[in-house]
Formats: sequence, structure tokens, C-alpha cells
Amino acid sequence: MELPSKLLENAVNEIAQLPGIGKRTALRLALHLLKQPNTQTETLVTSLAKLRSEIQYCSNCHNIADATRCEICNNTTREASVICVVEDVRDVMAIENTGLFKGHYHVLGGKINPMEGVGPSQLNINTLVEKVKSGAVTEIIFALSSTMEGDTTNFYIYKQIQECNIITSTIARGIAIGDELEYADEVTLGRSLIHRIPFEKAIKQV
Ligand SMILES: [Zn+2]
Repeated sequence: MELPSKLLENAVNEIAQLPGIGKRTALRLALHLLKQPNTQTETLVTSLAKLRSEIQYCSNCHNIADATRCEICNNTTREASVICVVEDVRDVMAIENTGLFKGHYHVLGGKINPMEGVGPSQLNINTLVEKVKSGAVTEIIFALSSTMEGDTTNFYIYKQIQECNIITSTIARGIAIGDELEYADEVTLGRSLIHRIPFEKAIKQV
């Protein structure tokens, strides 16, 4: 794409680095910003820079937070001993939207995926296992997507905490195999949390 300005070209190239945005959309966005008052671009740039420099990850559950602990972990009305294990922050949002879960979360930051070189040590698994071993946890609910990687991750964690004799369950499969939680509708996701099944039973089904 021939552009009349090097400045425009640089901006378009940067915007086009974002997922799901091609060069054409990037150009449209850049031209849109040029038509708006200066302040709009400044506000956008400032909020993105602040997001990048100030965002924190909760020291307790690894959720995104504005302080060392996230709002969920800081909420004393929530049950800290029941932990829902999810892959990423978007899953926390999806489950929160159901309004049916009042425990804490643990965000793993991904799934074990040997093909892509993701091993257990690259995920937030140790902190979860330590928390369980400290005796602070009564129930773990696995809410990873039902893919081979999700099942492998569940099983890996289950093996680490099996001896602690806490309740372990997995969300019921109203969520179709391979579906990402993020895309499940709230009713289905809520139902699958309520009708969660003991993890031992889930392994036998596989
Ligand atoms: Zn937290």
C-alpha cells in the first residue's frame, strides 16, 4: 500500500500489529484519528501507556489488578477457600458475568502445551499448589476449556494436589468440547458451574 506520508505509514504499520487488524483497517483508524481533535489521540495514547506501565497482576490469584491484590481477592464477602482455576483473565470476566460464583480465582496464564513449548513451569501452577498445601483451600473447580491441553493441565494440577484430599471438581460439559469459556453464553456457563462434577468422575469419562 503506497501512502503519501512516512508518518502515516509508521502509524499504520504499528496499528496493524494488533491482532485482527489488517493494513486497511489500520489506515482507516489512523485517518479517523487525524480528523478528530488532538486531545482524543492524546487521551488514547496516555491511557494505553498507563495501562502498560501501571497494570499489576494480583499477588494472590494473578488476575489483572490496579493494586497488588485484585478487587475479587480484596472482597471479604467472597469465599477464599473455594478456588476456580481458569486459563486467563477473560475467563474470570466470563464467570463473573454469570454472577453465580462467589469464591476466588486462580489464573494460570495459559495451558500446558508441549507442541508450543509451554510447560508447567511457565504457568502459575506452583502458587496454586502451594496455596492448596498450606491448607487454605477446601475446593478447587477446574474451569479450563475442554481441549487436550486443558485436560492435560487439569490432570497435572490434580496429581500435584491429590494427596491434600480437598474437593476437586470440573465444570459440567454444557460447554461443548473444545469451546473456549469466553464464548460460552452466561446461562450455559453458569449452569455448568452449578452442575460441576467431581474431578475423579471426569477423568473416568475421558
Ligand atoms: Zn486476586
